[in-house]
Amino acid sequence: MKITVEEDKCCGAGQCVLIAPEVFDQRDDDGIVILLDATPAEDQYEQVLEAAAVCPAACIHLDDKA
Ligand code: SF4
Repeated sequence: MKITVEEDKCCGAGQCVLIAPEVFDQRDDDGIVILLDATPAEDQYEQVLEAAAVCPAACIHLDDKA
């Protein structure tokens, strides 16, 4: 799995960080998402899928083939 995020669409809601804190973080100043791990281990997949599903800006994209 390969993750990409569209920082310009992120609204800084932090849902992804709450669900998958090992994969996502937020900038201190404006709360915009920071991708910590673009190719997470398999045991992170469930959280990553959930984070992408709940992201209110729909800016987390997953490539299952990568
Ligand atoms: S859940 Fe989406 S909008 Fe919220 S901080 Fe994460 S990437 Fe940004």
